[in-house]
Amino acid sequence: MDFYTRLTANVIFPLHERLKRHTTVDVHRDMERTQWLAPEPLRELRLQNLKRFLSDVERHVPYYRQLFRRLGFVPAELDSLADLRRLPLMGKPDIRAHTEALKADNAVGLSRFNTGGSSGEPLIFHIGKQRVSHDVAAKWRATRWWGVDIGDPEMVIWGSPIELGAQDRIKLIRDQLLRTRLLPAFEMSPAKLDGFIRDIRTRRPRMLFGYPSALAHIADHAGKTGEKLDDLGIKVAFVTSERLYDHQREKIEAAFGCPVANGYGGRDAGFIAHQCPAGGMHITAEDIIVEIIDRDGRVLPNGQAGEIVVTHLATRDFPFIRYRTGDVGVLGDELCPCGRGLPLLREIQGRATDFVIAQDGTVLHGLALIYVLRDLPGVASFKIIQNSPDSTTVQIVRNRDYRPDAEAIIVREFKKRLGAGVSVGIEYLDEIAREKSGKYRYVVSHVAP
Ligand SMILES: [Zn+2]
Repeated sequence: MDFYTRLTANVIFPLHERLKRHTTVDVHRDMERTQWLAPEPLRELRLQNLKRFLSDVERHVPYYRQLFRRLGFVPAELDSLADLRRLPLMGKPDIRAHTEALKADNAVGLSRFNTGGSSGEPLIFHIGKQRVSHDVAAKWRATRWWGVDIGDPEMVIWGSPIELGAQDRIKLIRDQLLRTRLLPAFEMSPAKLDGFIRDIRTRRPRMLFGYPSALAHIADHAGKTGEKLDDLGIKVAFVTSERLYDHQREKIEAAFGCPVANGYGGRDAGFIAHQCPAGGMHITAEDIIVEIIDRDGRVLPNGQAGEIVVTHLATRDFPFIRYRTGDVGVLGDELCPCGRGLPLLREIQGRATDFVIAQDGTVLHGLALIYVLRDLPGVASFKIIQNSPDSTTVQIVRNRDYRPDAEAIIVREFKKRLGAGVSVGIEYLDEIAREKSGKYRYVVSHVAP
């Protein structure tokens, strides 16, 4: 770690956070210790945090004060994390309907946020200073797992309009101090990509941060143009916000000569989990309780796939309690070999839109259907649209290797996976649009390169 990184991590960044009235430094110091707690003391710490949080919410958040009263729910009397199940799940429509009543009457530093989301329906919500401090502290801790720290030169390949809109003078100064440089991920013409690669070569960052698709795209381009990026001393590539596919991981690792560290979370749900070098996807357990539920909202045991629901204990200013993320994942029972006691998300299978649902309700990864088409000769590209659990449409662009028996194979294999009573329609097109349509419930699209 060089002098500037030490200066930043120990002086500049803590000062920056204090000026913003964030408690990040204290929260981070505690998190560095509590990550090593054994399961039992960690559970006790989480229970205390949960009780304190819910008691605070009961006193100050009108929506929950009423709800708790109606349910006879007394936070001070909780005796296990599972008691949380007595509270209802919270979806995006609930937040939309009660935005004002969800604000604490003594909220500190609320900022308004807006997520687009894959459904296309925006969600407006608020984040207080406590929550920012905790999410930044959790990110800081996860950064340090990889032998890098705040202040190490970083390149951020990002495209959230919120982030880019905030690129004002103050933010630019901050980014310079923290040695962070932003490359806009949604401007990826070949000429821009050449520029990115030159930029990365000149600045020699210690870490990269971005969407897996964007980093893989840069990796591809470097491969095509023969530019080397694996000799710059990059220690790690942090990816988040999208499902990370194995082929992307391989590409990024090969091109930049560093491991890929996957992170899972969102502006709405918080810094939920992050991978450590031993491979475990550690939940930010001090602050976040993760539950996995089935389609009817019942909590599933560890090891089973279902929707990820989070309760964020640092959201007293605008609570996220049993918030449905729309993502599908699996909780693990095992401990990570790295020795941290933080529990593991064994799998994050991606957004709900990456999934299809069989007639009997089984959740299948879209790959189960994609493989059927990918293995057929003559299929140039395709898109699978599940209109409902009973009806699926497959759009195909054929070439001359396409065989007459392919249609029967598709119908047979799809019925095997989705259910015998499912109707499978096949359409032949000249071209398949790349953009996802928000019109359908489940869209799996795969456009071959
Ligand atoms: Zn670990």
